[in-house]
Amino acid sequence: MPQSEPSKENQRRTFLLKAGYGAVAAGIASLVPSITGSEARAQNQSSGMIAPEKKVGWAIVGLGKFATQQLMPSFSQCKKSKLVALVSGDAEKAKKYATEYGIAEKNTYNYQNYDNLRNNPEVDVIYIVLPNSMHAEYTVRGAQAGKHIMCEKPMATSVEDCEKMIDACKKANKKLMIAYRAQYEPYNLKAIEMAREGKLGKLRLITSEHGRHLKPEEPSDKWRAQKKMAGGGSLMDIGIYSLQAARYITGEEPEEVMAMIYSDPKDPRFKEVEDRVNFMLRFPSGVQANLSSGYSYHETKRFSVFGTDARLDLDPATDYYEHNMHVATKDAEEQRKIKEDNQFSLEIDHMSECILENKQPKTPGEEGLRDIRLMMAIYESARKGAPVKV
Ligand code: NAD
Repeated sequence: MPQSEPSKENQRRTFLLKAGYGAVAAGIASLVPSITGSEARAQNQSSGMIAPEKKVGWAIVGLGKFATQQLMPSFSQCKKSKLVALVSGDAEKAKKYATEYGIAEKNTYNYQNYDNLRNNPEVDVIYIVLPNSMHAEYTVRGAQAGKHIMCEKPMATSVEDCEKMIDACKKANKKLMIAYRAQYEPYNLKAIEMAREGKLGKLRLITSEHGRHLKPEEPSDKWRAQKKMAGGGSLMDIGIYSLQAARYITGEEPEEVMAMIYSDPKDPRFKEVEDRVNFMLRFPSGVQANLSSGYSYHETKRFSVFGTDARLDLDPATDYYEHNMHVATKDAEEQRKIKEDNQFSLEIDHMSECILENKQPKTPGEEGLRDIRLMMAIYESARKGAPVKV
C-alpha cells in the first residue's frame, strides 16, 4: 500500500530506532539509504546471521515505491538473504541504487535482457515488484531462467495467469511464494494463534476494513487507476488484506460470497477501477466475515475477531511498522504488547530458508490463486446482485 506522507517516513524511522536498527534509521534520517554499507554489514555479522557467502542471492524487479522504500532497506535485517541484482527499465535509477546497495554494475538488468539472469549464479531468487498485470510474464520468464520466484500481491490479474505462473515454476522445479507479509508479521501471527486456539471462545464474526485515497497524480497510483494494469480497484490492491485476514484468522476457505460495489460516477479516479467494495463471506464452521475496501476514505487497515468469550481488535493490523492489539472480555479490556519486528525481512528470510532447506513456502502460488478466484467471485456477486458459491 503506498504511503507517501512524510509522517510515514518518521514512523518507519522511529520503528527502526526502537527495534535497534540504528544504521538504517540513520540512513533514512539523512535520506541516504546507505544500509548495505560496511556499517550495516558489521551490525549484521554480530547478530547470528549465516555467513554472507551462504546467504541466498536475491534480484529485485521493478524499482518503484514499495521496492525502494520498504523492501530494499529491509535486506540489512535479513539473516539468510542478500540483495545481489536489480532489474529496472531506467538505467540511471538502476545505477544509482546499485551504487547505494553495493551491487556490481554487471548485476543490473533491464526488461529486455532480464532473461540473462539465467547466466548469473549469484542470483537464486527473483522478487517481482511490478504493476499487477506484469507479475505473470516476469514470473514465467524468471522461472524459465531457472530462478525461484517471490511475487507481490495480488498474484496476477486473472485466474489463468495464476495457473500459468504455478505451472511454469513447477515445470522448472522452482519455488513460488506470494509476498503476503501479514502472514509473517508477529501481531497477526498472535491474533491467528489466539483465534485458532480458542482464546476468544467460539469464532462468530470477522470484520476487516482497508481503505485509503487513490491518488492517480502519483506515479505509483497512476497504473492503479487503470484496469488493464491493476486488474481492478481497491479490492485487488487492499481489499485483498481484508480477505486474507478472514482466511488466515479462521484457517478456513469460504463457501459463499456476496458483494456490493459503489463508485461515484462523477469521480474521474473511478472511470476504470472500482472505489468501495463491501463483501461478506460464509465459512464452513458458520463463521461469517463482513469485509470491505475503499479508495476514497481516510487510511484504514484493521480487523476485529468476535468470539463467544472475547473480541480482538488489531488496528492498525496491516501497517508496515506499527500494530495495536486490543482484547475485550466480559471482565477486562486490555492492550496487548508484542515485540514489533520487520515483516519484510521475515518474509524474505522465510523464502530463503525454504530454498536452503528445500521446503514449501507458507504462502505458495496456490495461496495467491485462491485469493484471485475469490476476488473474481466477489466481482461476479456484485455484478449479479446475488450470492455466489465458491
Ligand atoms: P510503483 O509504481 O511504485 O512501482 C512499480 C515499478 O514498476 C516502477 O519502478 C515502474 O517504473 C515499473 N514499471 C515497469 N513497467 C511499468 C509499466 N508498464 N507501467 C508502470 N510501471 C512500470 O508501484 P508499487 O506501489 O511499488 O507496487 C508494485 C507492486 O507491489 C504491486 O504489485 C503492488 O500491489 C505491490 N505492493 C505491495 C505492498 C505490500 O505491502 N505487500 C505494498 C505496495 C505495493
